[in-house]
Amino acid sequence: RAKSQQRTGHFYFSRSMGVEIRERVRMMHALRTGFSQNQLFVVYQPQVDLDSRRAMGAEALLRWQTPDGKFVSPDRFIPIAEYSGLIIDIGEWVMRTAMQELVALRAAGHTEFTMSINVSQVQFRHPHFLDTLRNALHDTGAPPEYVELEITESMAMEEPDMLIKMLAQIKQTGVTIAIDDFGTGFSSLSYLQRLQIDRLKIDRAFVTEITNSARGSSIAEMVVQLGRNLGLAVIAEGVEDERQAQILHNLGCPLAQGFLFARPMTGEALSGWLSNDALAGVA
Ligand code: C2E
Ligand code: MG
Ligand code: MG
Ligand code: MG
Repeated sequence: RAKSQQRTGHFYFSRSMGVEIRERVRMMHALRTGFSQNQLFVVYQPQVDLDSRRAMGAEALLRWQTPDGKFVSPDRFIPIAEYSGLIIDIGEWVMRTAMQELVALRAAGHTEFTMSINVSQVQFRHPHFLDTLRNALHDTGAPPEYVELEITESMAMEEPDMLIKMLAQIKQTGVTIAIDDFGTGFSSLSYLQRLQIDRLKIDRAFVTEITNSARGSSIAEMVVQLGRNLGLAVIAEGVEDERQAQILHNLGCPLAQGFLFARPMTGEALSGWLSNDALAGVA
């Protein structure tokens, strides 16, 4: 009996795998075409100071709208871009686009505004990553100290020695580093201390929990404390309502990002949004 079950299991598994692989291959081709036909664009979500409610920076987020008008979520297509290697070219393009936007905002007077850019572990591991970063900074004229790279905590977990070395080299370019989705991995304190990072981003899951239960804010509180102890900046992501913002503010979390303040928007919309917030990112 065990044997036949195993076989059935195997058959079922490979058939669904076939469907899955075919779908991935289809999406990979569509993404490659889409990228070359300018179906990808970058949107920007403001990051605000919880005290003054002023925008201090933005996170660049990739969007893909297919010719039928539908949007494909980055959670679906980024893994395919990674798996196929397309993320190398796409990621470089995002980096340059976001840096150009930063330069444009600076020209409009937002000279203290920062730009956060998500970096995939596939990009990060690529032997030319440092050159790509340096060239993008050089060609766009973006000031490195206003550029932040976001890497995920799960990425920080793998190959610790490689990561420690890479971060040290990246820091030499002058850009800053944030750990995204913080709290979802299990980095130890001693390991975190060895990483040259600047900021922790509290994962949205823990922000949501804040108002869900009596002990809901304990992880957010712990990350704020950790940041304080390690001398790192802290930002909360996925803040959707005023109560969450209040609690985070009371916990001493200085910055936040979320639908409460603004949804991700095009560069053009961001300039408009910032001019309504006349002092945003101005020294
Ligand atoms: P992430 O870097 O953690 O980005 C935050 C995600 O939370 C974004 O989803 C953003 O739109 C969403 N978000 C922001 N505020 C709220 C809120 O108040 N409520 C809710 N429910 N969601 C909120 P998005 O844009 O769909 O991106 C998903 C993930 O895809 C990102 O998570 C990131 O891991 C990845 N991604 C997006 N753009 C890029 C990119 O250019 N490069 C790479 N490598 N990954 C990217
Ligand atoms: Mg991010
Ligand atoms: Mg995140
Ligand atoms: Mg995330």
